[in-house]
Amino acid sequence: MMIKNILIDAVNYRVEITDERIIVDGQECGADVDYNLALIRLSDKIGEGTKAKFLMHEIFHAVLNERGMFEESRNEALIDELAAGTINLIRENPKLIDFLRGDNLDAD
Ligand SMILES: [Zn+2]
Repeated sequence: MMIKNILIDAVNYRVEITDERIIVDGQECGADVDYNLALIRLSDKIGEGTKAKFLMHEIFHAVLNERGMFEESRNEALIDELAAGTINLIRENPKLIDFLRGDNLDAD
């Protein structure tokens, strides 16, 4: 099950799995994001286990770009660590998501 749309602030990004080669700065990679088209593409060649990491990586590019942090949005090391750290946070703390959503405010 792959998510098809992600609302990032006011912009609805489409998520596409593609069999096309994704080239960024002359290098083939597993995913990319186009801010103008509001499109995140994931290569169909990346493994199931790494799709979340690639998707979260592109989401952070978009979050920073949508919020005007243009320099930071080009910082691949920053984006990579934010992506990996956020995935761990979400996986290890399911109640945190409820709390952030405003659900189950009494949960411990
Ligand atoms: Zn990147």
